[in-house]
Amino acid sequence: MTTPRPYRLGVMLGDGIGPEIVPASVHVVDAALAAAGAEPAEWQELPLGASAIDEHGSAIPESTLSALAELDGWLLGPHDSAAYPEPFRSRLNPSGAIRKHFDLYANIRPARGFEGGEAIAPDTDLVIVRENTEGFYADRNTFAGTGEYMPTPDVAIAMGVFTRPAIERIARAAFALARRRRHEVTIVHKANVLQLSSGLFRRVCLEVAEDHPDVAVDDLHIDAMTVHLLRRAGAFDVVVAENMFGDILSDLAGELAGSLGTAPSINASDDRCMAQAAHGSAPDIAGRGLANPIAMILSSGMLLDWLGRRHGDDRAVDAAVRVEDGVRAAVRAGVSTRDLGGEASTDEFTDAVVERVGAGA
Ligand code: ATP
Ligand code: MG
Repeated sequence: MTTPRPYRLGVMLGDGIGPEIVPASVHVVDAALAAAGAEPAEWQELPLGASAIDEHGSAIPESTLSALAELDGWLLGPHDSAAYPEPFRSRLNPSGAIRKHFDLYANIRPARGFEGGEAIAPDTDLVIVRENTEGFYADRNTFAGTGEYMPTPDVAIAMGVFTRPAIERIARAAFALARRRRHEVTIVHKANVLQLSSGLFRRVCLEVAEDHPDVAVDDLHIDAMTVHLLRRAGAFDVVVAENMFGDILSDLAGELAGSLGTAPSINASDDRCMAQAAHGSAPDIAGRGLANPIAMILSSGMLLDWLGRRHGDDRAVDAAVRVEDGVRAAVRAGVSTRDLGGEASTDEFTDAVVERVGAGA
């Protein structure tokens, strides 16, 4: 089955290196869709970040949110909300606002070593499935309101929220993903100390495991998990964790597998998907053609894969494979940006990928 119409995709450039790496990703997606024989995507650029504050009085304008609702998926550039003037700096940052608005509950962060890269653990090939709406990140909690407060100037209280429906849906996402990979899920928690909250997380994940007898399941405490990751990253397949644990583990796994500039992610619900690099806006190198576009390009490839699976569209799935293969072929051929020890500019690296996505790499 093919899609009834071309995908309509949003583009938000964001801050810092965003205007360099996001257009690079659009080029690669266009080339991959063409090479796969799919309809070209229709792109719509939407304001977000520092430039949107100047022009629209908000880092994430209402008009952007309502336009996103009409689209099939979108690319989100990094944002540097710490540099926004008040009151914008204190508000929920743009990606948090979008995740919350569209209930993008699953943050999927693969970490896979690069042949020819200088990774600490090049045999890493795992995916962190991070719950994105509750847990120990109190600012995103539905029930806790602001989530953090100070009853006196010397006491700060942060709340963690764990609910069965939210745990169940992230566990289902993790087990479904494991079925397309090596059929292994590791549940990460701290149920020995946080017996009720982390205990519920572990228990519900194990219940979902019972519906997936073909998937091997293991569970580890978060502290032990960091040690196991460092020692034997290559042994893990799918790792499911609550919000904060998943965030910390994905930085660790990303660094073991490569560098910050190579770690992709998507944020998804059952009917929407946002591609977002795991790194920040890198203001120190912005505007100089030095940025590594790999993380953003691979995230965009993940979006194609998600679209293809959602719509039963083999061509989009094929285009996604071409994106990943094209990036890896370019790195293998010795083309890379400075952070990976190479000399290519953002555009030169992107051209090297575009050349290879069509080659059935
Ligand atoms: P944030 O708070 O937005 O996550 P951060 O403080 O974690 O930001 P980043 O913006 O991710 O920081 O940058 C950290 C370092 O990594 C910087 O020195 C930056 O130049 C470098 N870096 C990040 N992303 C890339 C990239 N895509 N290509 C090259 N270097 C990068
Ligand atoms: Mg960061």
